[in-house]
Amino acid sequence: MRKSLFSILLLFFCLGCSTVPLTGRKQLSLIPSSQINSLSFQSYDDVLKESKLSNNKQQVNLVKKVGQNISSAVEKYMKQNGLEEHIEGFQWEFNLIQDDEMINAWCMPGGKVAFYTGIMPICEDEAGVAVVMSHEIAHAIAEHGNERMSQQLALQLGGSALSVALNQQPQLTQQLAMAAFGLGAQVGVLLPYSRSHESEADELGIYFMAMAGYDPKEAIPFWQRMDAKGGQRPPEFLSTHPEPENRIKNIEKAIPKAMKYKNQAG
Ligand SMILES: [Zn+2]
Repeated sequence: MRKSLFSILLLFFCLGCSTVPLTGRKQLSLIPSSQINSLSFQSYDDVLKESKLSNNKQQVNLVKKVGQNISSAVEKYMKQNGLEEHIEGFQWEFNLIQDDEMINAWCMPGGKVAFYTGIMPICEDEAGVAVVMSHEIAHAIAEHGNERMSQQLALQLGGSALSVALNQQPQLTQQLAMAAFGLGAQVGVLLPYSRSHESEADELGIYFMAMAGYDPKEAIPFWQRMDAKGGQRPPEFLSTHPEPENRIKNIEKAIPKAMKYKNQAG
């Protein structure tokens, strides 16, 4: 049983492989992005319907402005470097949800971003918002949602055809999708981002910040503030990620490369 599962996984791996832009890591990617995006857009609408949007105009505008800056810079870079397949079908959207208890933000596949008001004090200013925004956008550009969902589907459904599963088990699919997109708490399925995904989002994130003209060094004091906030209910960022010191070391290592992207952006 175990052995056959592994052969199936291996087969999936050979058939459904793609490459993360900029880092070059190979990943499992079984679900067509059009399908992932439509699941994502549906989930995003559901979350927004169930949530109260912030009416703090200043903060709402800041989230939208930074989101625009970073997404445009990333799109421009992808197009100029023949990587546009990674943003195909994206429909960017940036919203701020009123919930002071939630120290969180996420970006679902296809560019659907939400910040919670609870993270705004840790962001402090535009640069802090840019750190979080670019980290979350990096999860979407690196297609971590597709990868996580592919892994879960391969594990849970074994050999049954994925297309059949996606069409005939809508509830399971929706639950997996929400969990894979980083919203596990909402459906009771916790599926934290792995350390490798967190490190990759940190690295890509500071490149994206730099592309949009922000100073990637701002990521360091932000993560120090986030770390200090730790406490009994760790935010998404703190639940699975590398030790804070390692995280900061990794970011420091990537800064020289990030500065090159910044200079290219002019
Ligand atoms: Zn993350």
